[in-house]
Amino acid sequence: MTNQQTTSKKKKTKDPTPSPAKKAKSDEASSTCGSKRFKDGNVNSEGIDARLAELDSLLQSTKYSKQKTSFKIRNGNFFSCLTPSKSIADSTPNDVRIFVVHKDTKGKTQIHRATYVFRGQPGRFKCDCPVRLTAGSVDSLIGQIRAIYRDFRRGTDWNDMLGIGNPAAAPVVKRYLEAVRLEQSFSSVLPKRATPLFLDKLSVFSRHITHKLSNTHISVCDKYILLRDIVFFNLLAHTGDRAGDLGSLMSDQIRWIPGNQGVIFSLTKGKTVDIRDPRVVVLYYSAHSEFCPLKILKQYLTFCDEQILTLAPGFVFRALNFSKSALSNNPYTSSAVNARLKLYLKSVGLFEGESPHSTRSGCALTLAWLGFSNDLIKSHVGWKSDAMLKHYTVGKDLHNRHDSAQAMSNCSASVTSRIALDLGRLKNYTSFERVLK
Ligand SMILES: [Zn+2]
Repeated sequence: MTNQQTTSKKKKTKDPTPSPAKKAKSDEASSTCGSKRFKDGNVNSEGIDARLAELDSLLQSTKYSKQKTSFKIRNGNFFSCLTPSKSIADSTPNDVRIFVVHKDTKGKTQIHRATYVFRGQPGRFKCDCPVRLTAGSVDSLIGQIRAIYRDFRRGTDWNDMLGIGNPAAAPVVKRYLEAVRLEQSFSSVLPKRATPLFLDKLSVFSRHITHKLSNTHISVCDKYILLRDIVFFNLLAHTGDRAGDLGSLMSDQIRWIPGNQGVIFSLTKGKTVDIRDPRVVVLYYSAHSEFCPLKILKQYLTFCDEQILTLAPGFVFRALNFSKSALSNNPYTSSAVNARLKLYLKSVGLFEGESPHSTRSGCALTLAWLGFSNDLIKSHVGWKSDAMLKHYTVGKDLHNRHDSAQAMSNCSASVTSRIALDLGRLKNYTSFERVLK
């Protein structure tokens, strides 16, 4: 760089303060609203407003945001019923605790007392023990309330000295959760886990679907649903994906691996997935499973092509339209997946409380039993935290405990006395003869 260039660059960056005229213009642009915001006729203020409204409505359309909004309304109503009446703007950490206690009565988990026989058993019993939310649900409820206050511009932290900030982030609310967790630890409340769904059970109901497909009298749309489901459930079981995430797979996100050995999905929208961190799923042909997910995926795509059921552009797995006479542009949602899974399992008499999460847990457990590392399992299934892995693979943990416990039960006193003898011998290290003197 020449000296002249350096000087001219310096000149440009020397004074970042805008001229008074410029400042007035920019202040005007940021402080007023609506179409009067810009004096410059080249700025399309209506277009900008429409764009901002479009982005706001996109955010509000997400499932979590919908939950949050309905919750926000209920929360506001609740505070107005208190004496003295409160609102989201002036409620305190103690009001948050009152609200959580109020919600606690809507729980489904029975907290048995220490001396009661039903302790640690799932389900409801006719004892007088209270029914409450699990500690995990209380935790997520407090998280939702915290988000509402944050959106209400009460910040993310609580200042106890000044008594301002986000009341749901106050230590007193955290201690409430600690107490609930402690109480449930005493009462041996076990966290609910999805019943795992393994490939053997999946094969049984896949055969059932195949049998239904062999009926020549069913309509193209009924056939579509059956084919879609057999592919969808087998893909879930092999990839460990969330049903909602796989349902949002678009036709341009599925590609052949060079040499056509398999396919690769790149999901960019999901519960924990977005464009910054897409989830990549790889799928190979399987010689060992009765329903090779890739072969049946190809069958599904060929069927749609032959019947002129257009999937591209748009979602790969679709719901039918309202009259059930054609494909809609809507994806196969997780609630629909849940209903279909229950239907199939019940029709073959194998339903044991499974949900779409059961395929996720079955996939993780299978990988754990095959000896894969925790990191690989987490990346295959798409979990970010160790806590999730532990939650779903507790069966493998028990199996490992079984091995060590069985080794202990086979251990006789003569074995342990040999260990003691060896330890005794090795203990006298200082009295051992030196190799080099
Ligand atoms: Zn009880």
